Amino acid sequence: MNNICIIGSGHVGLVTGACLAELGNKVICVDNDARKIECLKEGELPFYEPGLEELVHRNANNGRLSFTGSIEEGIKASEIIFISVGTPQNPDDTADTTMVETVIRKISQTIDSYKIVVEKSTVPVKTGKWISKKLNSNPAVDCDVVSNPEFLREGSALNDFMNPDRIVIGTTSERATKIMTELYKPLKAPVIITNIETAELIKHASNCFLALKISYINAVATICEKTGGDVIKVAEGMGHDSRIGNEFLNAGVGYGGSCFPKDLAAFIKIAEEVGYDFQLLKAVREINDSQRQQMVNRASNLLNTLAGKTIGILGISFKPHTDDIREAPAIYIIEKLQEAGSMIKVYDPQALRKAREVLVNVEYCRDPYELAEGCDALLVITEWEEFKNIDLKRIKPLLRQPIIIDGRNIYDPQKMRKLGFTYCGTGR
Ligand code: NAD
Repeated sequence: MNNICIIGSGHVGLVTGACLAELGNKVICVDNDARKIECLKEGELPFYEPGLEELVHRNANNGRLSFTGSIEEGIKASEIIFISVGTPQNPDDTADTTMVETVIRKISQTIDSYKIVVEKSTVPVKTGKWISKKLNSNPAVDCDVVSNPEFLREGSALNDFMNPDRIVIGTTSERATKIMTELYKPLKAPVIITNIETAELIKHASNCFLALKISYINAVATICEKTGGDVIKVAEGMGHDSRIGNEFLNAGVGYGGSCFPKDLAAFIKIAEEVGYDFQLLKAVREINDSQRQQMVNRASNLLNTLAGKTIGILGISFKPHTDDIREAPAIYIIEKLQEAGSMIKVYDPQALRKAREVLVNVEYCRDPYELAEGCDALLVITEWEEFKNIDLKRIKPLLRQPIIIDGRNIYDPQKMRKLGFTYCGTGR
């Protein structure tokens, strides 16, 4: 059993805290958002993640998981301190590490015994070195710094945390390596032990590679459209090759979310700073941007003009099983359609509350059928299971024009045409 402090109780921090408590550790989650901490103490979660509420309640009730707004309290009570604050994108594309720096200053002022400071946030290579230098510049501080990047996906975060493909532990300290290896032992995952810089690079390199796969299949989708191929079959044919694998080969609107866009931008910048022009990743980003715009162009082409048209958006979250709308393709698409004079109706099974904080002048609907009423076209932006099971026969007469632009290829083109829809998928 370890005493653990998690600084930053968001999508990564709260999952990490709850899962480590479930594994038998005593965990104290810290956040500087007082409202978030109050909610957590009341048993309310600040975001939707399948299974997390139950896990948090169970471990809070058995006394292994607690919450505080006091970073000092968390640090003093713990030997292992995870930093999982945000590292958003700066206007110049670099990663904004000011939240990490603030936390490090606080730790430096508070440490009174040996601690392991774990970098869980995604940070540019050499951040760990900076943290180490900063903390060890205070002779009273006894600590080791570890880079332990997180690979969980929102929407399947608990399963991803508890059944990881690998654990990366970046440190040259034997003492820290031993404690961290023991901590993760119950997960029975392969452990990669390396230096801090390599661990930091593993995270950026992995996320950028996944983004690259998505843009690659989107580029192939464009070729399919021009040649009569079906990108779904192409992806299936590729994916059976064990050297390629079938994941992240779904053509469509492209990636979004709080990680891929900013991590890609940061990695391109990191490369630039060391004198390498990462053209490959720049192309990945360009392809991804064009996929979003393509949805708008398709609507415009099929409707002749967007001005005065009513468009229904199926799905706002950047992917299913989450209410996270950070950098969601839907937001971009809605804004572009509005600029062109369209009226927008939206429906999402989980993300409407968050959408209300961001979107203006849209009509919120309770289900896909209310959404379809009076629309000139429906755009599928998120592949929620619910959308795959819609009663399309019921939808059709509700629409003013039976047009469906499917940005996630969730419907069968032949069936859609048989039902009388003007249907437009991606790459087929
Ligand atoms: P988030 O915004 O959901 O959570 C960050 C939390 O940190 C917020 O609750 C915020 O209030 C808190 N915070 C900020 N400054 C603080 C401070 N000084 N003291 C205490 N709390 C503070 O972010 P997230 O999605 O959990 O991402 C966190 C990090 O993990 C990022 O670097 C991200 O790139 C990385 N990451 C995210 C995911 C993901 O799927 N979201 C996956 C892997 C890695």
